[in-house]
Amino acid sequence: MLTVTAPRQRAVKSGQGVCVVLDGDALHGLNVSLHKAGERLFAQVHSHPGRAYHSPMDDQYAVVTAAGGLSIVVPDFAVRPFSVGDCAIYRLTRSGKWTVMPKRRAEALIYVVKDQTP
Ligand SMILES: [Zn+2]
Repeated sequence: MLTVTAPRQRAVKSGQGVCVVLDGDALHGLNVSLHKAGERLFAQVHSHPGRAYHSPMDDQYAVVTAAGGLSIVVPDFAVRPFSVGDCAIYRLTRSGKWTVMPKRRAEALIYVVKDQTP
């Protein structure tokens, strides 16, 4: 089974920019729901106000923690249509480092389909 979820988040604005934070209870709830469904978290998606990149905060506070997991950053707060190639895609290595995934590889791995539910 594949579930897309948006855990409860708290928006933060500071002199260093903007971000969203998942508090402990939201992370706990996410992990409980994953466990009950027999699923694992393999990708996270978020957006930046401008260009797409993995910030030091993204590296340090990623929700995905499993090696091989993906972090997808969408540019321009996703206010316009975009393709996978417009995004910055990172993969978590076994040593715990986020490494950028080449665009061609990301485009071969990830495709977006339109929701077919009525
Ligand atoms: Zn970010």
